[in-house]
Amino acid sequence: MAFKNGIIDLRSDTVTHPTDEMRAAMAAAPVGDDVYNEDPTVIQLEKLAVGKTGKEAALFVASGTMGNLIAAMVHCGRGDEAVMGTSGHTFLHEVGGISALGGIFPSLIPNQEDGTLAIEDIQKAYRDDDIHHPPSRLLIVENTQNQCGGIPLSVDYMHSAATIAHSLGMSVHLDGARVFNAAKALNCSAADICVPVDSVMFCLSKGLCAPIGSMLCGTQEFIGKARKIRKQLGGGMRQAGIIAAAGLLAIEKMVDRLPEDHQNAKDLAAGLKGIRGLTIVKGGPQTNMVFFRIARDFPRTADAIKEQLKARGVLVGLSGPGEFRLVTHYWINAEDVAKTIREIKTVIEG
Ligand SMILES: *Cc1c(COP(=O)(O)O)cnc(C)c1O
Repeated sequence: MAFKNGIIDLRSDTVTHPTDEMRAAMAAAPVGDDVYNEDPTVIQLEKLAVGKTGKEAALFVASGTMGNLIAAMVHCGRGDEAVMGTSGHTFLHEVGGISALGGIFPSLIPNQEDGTLAIEDIQKAYRDDDIHHPPSRLLIVENTQNQCGGIPLSVDYMHSAATIAHSLGMSVHLDGARVFNAAKALNCSAADICVPVDSVMFCLSKGLCAPIGSMLCGTQEFIGKARKIRKQLGGGMRQAGIIAAAGLLAIEKMVDRLPEDHQNAKDLAAGLKGIRGLTIVKGGPQTNMVFFRIARDFPRTADAIKEQLKARGVLVGLSGPGEFRLVTHYWINAEDVAKTIREIKTVIEG
């Protein structure tokens, strides 16, 4: 189904355009001033997010980055420490916002190959009440774990990680940008994954196709504080129902089709496997991401290959030296997968 211009864009699921149904809903959405809590469409979206995550309250935010930042700022004060993975989005791709804007100190532990943070490492990262230590206040877990292969972390693991963090007096925030992908892959509900955590952020603007927005969910008290910080950061929006309308459809219509993206990722990986000079890495796809590498001594750079593919109408992402990331989504169908395999084969085998 590619985009209308025929481009197959696999760089990310953030590239998804809203559907025609979303555009129509946006045009028709009842609105009000959301800073006054008077936008009926935003209120409806926040209620729906509460239902899906099982948390008490929810807040519509401009982006996943803003949701994670606000969560960290509610859980931590200036000078407090937040424990997170070295492959976590908050460490890698959020411009250091928790430190720059929140005064929060990151404490890094390695992500294991399966995307988890080892329970022993969480325990060791915790710092006791010594005069020299910043207070350890927060653990951030990411599910699915993007950089580790889009891996879903099991409900059991979520409970284990939260149990150890809570026993040490730390709160737990879930970067659940793709928590619905995780839920589909694990055959459970998003709420099952969210039970052990204190707060969760999920994105409407990735595989769920909404043009803008993420949801932050937690207790009433947490969301009350989050609402104030959102305003402080300049994220208080007015007639936001225009964009929330697309978010409603994102949750209602797009969640249950995510397994199609997962199947397309599996088919893509299976087709790529046969190509000489290319190796699938980070495990077989369990959700909507395929990672592959070219050999270190490959005669062309990854950048050159990316450009050659672009000239053939296939856009791919680079996720490290010699490493490619391809993400399937609503605008990629089986035909696009087949074409992508053919084009990559032509370009790589030359
Ligand atoms: C995309 C993403 C975010 C941030 O979302 P934006 O809306 O792009 O700011 C956070 N965490 C993970 C794991 C992501 O993939």
